[in-house]
Amino acid sequence: MQLLTSFLSGAWTAGSGTTSALINPATEAPLAEVHGQGHDLAAAFAYARDTGARELGALTFAARGALLAALAKAIHGAREELIALAVANGGNTRGDAKFDVDGGALTLSHYAELGARLGAAQLLADGEPVQVGRTARMSGQHVWARRRGVAVHINAFNFPGWGLCEKLACAVLAGMPVLAKPATATALIAHRLAQLFVPLLPPGALQILVGPAGALLDHVAAGDVVAFTGGSATARMLRTHPAFAERGARLNIEADSLNAAVVAPDVELSSETGALLVADVVRDMTQKTGQKCTAIRRVLVPADRLTDIADALRERLAGLVVGDPAHDGVGMGPLATAQQRNDVRAGIARLAAATDAIHGGTGELASPVGVPAGKGFFVGPVVRATASPMTCAALHEHEIFGPVITLGAYSGDAELAAAFVARGDGCLVSSAYSDDRDWVAKFVAGAAPLAGRLYLGSSKMAAQSPGPGTALPSLLHGGPGRAGGGEELGGERGLHLYMQRCALEGDASVLKSLLGA
Ligand code: NAP
Repeated sequence: MQLLTSFLSGAWTAGSGTTSALINPATEAPLAEVHGQGHDLAAAFAYARDTGARELGALTFAARGALLAALAKAIHGAREELIALAVANGGNTRGDAKFDVDGGALTLSHYAELGARLGAAQLLADGEPVQVGRTARMSGQHVWARRRGVAVHINAFNFPGWGLCEKLACAVLAGMPVLAKPATATALIAHRLAQLFVPLLPPGALQILVGPAGALLDHVAAGDVVAFTGGSATARMLRTHPAFAERGARLNIEADSLNAAVVAPDVELSSETGALLVADVVRDMTQKTGQKCTAIRRVLVPADRLTDIADALRERLAGLVVGDPAHDGVGMGPLATAQQRNDVRAGIARLAAATDAIHGGTGELASPVGVPAGKGFFVGPVVRATASPMTCAALHEHEIFGPVITLGAYSGDAELAAAFVARGDGCLVSSAYSDDRDWVAKFVAGAAPLAGRLYLGSSKMAAQSPGPGTALPSLLHGGPGRAGGGEELGGERGLHLYMQRCALEGDASVLKSLLGA
C-alpha cells in the first residue's frame, strides 16, 4: 500500500509512529496510509520563515502571479489522474471531482491574472490619500504590506483540491510561504497536488504535512497566519490555543454553516426563477453528497407553494442513482468517512423528531449500485418539512453535512424571510428567489448582516447562474457568527489576510512614490 509522505524542510519524509489509513468510502478498500508522528516541525517553520519568505519576498506580484499560472497549468496536465483520485478517495462522482479539481485551477488562474495586474508593486494601497496637516503636503495613506511569517493552511476533508489551491493562491501572491495541512481522510489529492506544485515554486514556498496535525500549532508565532477550514468543535479549540490567545498569531476560521434559501411569494414553480430554485436545491443536496460548506440546508417557501415544491423535489430525487461513483450512471456517491455517515444519521434522527417526512425517510439505502454488500458510507437524499420553521430548533442549531434539506412554510413576508436566515446565527451564503425588486431590497437589508454572501436568484440571471453553492474567487468566501467570522477570496481582498495594514504619514510626494506613482 502507498505510504504518503510529507514535504518538509525541502525533502519528502515519511515520518514515523502509528499509521492512519486512507480508504475508498464506497468500498472501504484501503488506498494508502500515513504516519502520525516523527516530523521536525520546528525545522519546517524555520525553513519557511528563512528560505520561503526570502524567496517569495524577492519576487514582484507579477512574478508570483506567473508561478500561480504554472500551478494551474500543472493541474490541467494531470486533470484525469486527479479526478480519478477524487473518485477513489473522496467518494466523488466525476462531476463532483471536476468541481474540486477545476475549481482549484480556476482560482489559481484568477490570482495569476491579479498578480499580472498588480505588476511590480511592493505595497498595495488601501483607499485614497488623506490630508492630515494644514496643507496637502502633510498626507496619510493606508497600505498593505507583506507579513513575514508562515501561512499555515488547515483544510477540511470535503475540498482537498480546491481548498489547497484557494488558500495557496492568496498567500503566495501576497508573498507568504505556505505550510499546508490537508484533512487526513481525503489527503490523496492534496498530496498529489503538492508533488506537482513543489518543483514549480521557489524553495520553502510550499510545504505539506500529510497526516494528523500533532503539535503543529505549538510552532505558530506572532507573525504567522493560520487559515482553518473545518468543524466548529475544532475551531473552538483553535480559538483558545496559546498561538492566538497568547502569542497573537492571526487566525481565520471557515466553519459550519446552516445556509438558507428563501422563496418570495411572486415565484411560480413553473417560472424560470422557480425552476432555478429546484435545480439549485437538488444540486446542493446531491453534489459532493451534500458535503459542501455552502450547500443549502434550510428552504423557506410560501405556505401555499410547499406541496408543489415538495413534489418537484421528490420527482427530481426519485431518479437519482446512488452508489460507487466509479460506476457509470451513478449520480451521488457515499459520504467521505464512517464518522461523517454516523454524524449525518444522528442529524437526520434529530430532525425526524421535529419535522415531517417528505422524501427519503431516514436516508437508509438497501443496495447502493456497484457496492459490495454491507460496505460504504452511504446515506440517501432526505427531504423533511415543518409548518413552524422559525421555532424548529433542530433546523437551526445543527449542521447536517450531507444530502439533507428541510422545507419550512411561511407567509411570504420579506422581513420574516431575513429573520429565517438569521436563525442560523451566521452563514457563508444564503439565497433568495424573486423577481420582485422591492421584496429583494427588504430581504437584503435584513439578511446581509448575517451572511457572507447573498445569492439573488431571478429569471434574468437564471441561464448563467453557477448556483449559490459555488464559491467564486472574485467574491468573498466566509461568513459571520457560526460560519467562523473568516474572510477568504474576494479578489484582492483575499491577499489582505496575509498582509498587514499600515497607516503611512508624511510628505505626500514620498507616500506617492512608495506606491510607485
Ligand atoms: P474537522 O474535523 O474540524 O477537521 C478540519 C481540519 O482540522 C483537518 O485537517 C483536521 O485534521 C484538522 N485538525 C483536527 N484537529 C486539529 C488540531 N488539534 N490542530 C490542528 N488541526 C486539526 O472538519 P472536517 O470534518 O474535515 O470538515 C467538516 C466541517 O468543515 C463541516 O462542519 C463543514 O461545515 C466545515 N467546512 C467549512 C467550510 C467553509 O469554508 N466554511 C468548507 C468546508 C468544510 P485531520 O483530518 O488530520 O483530523
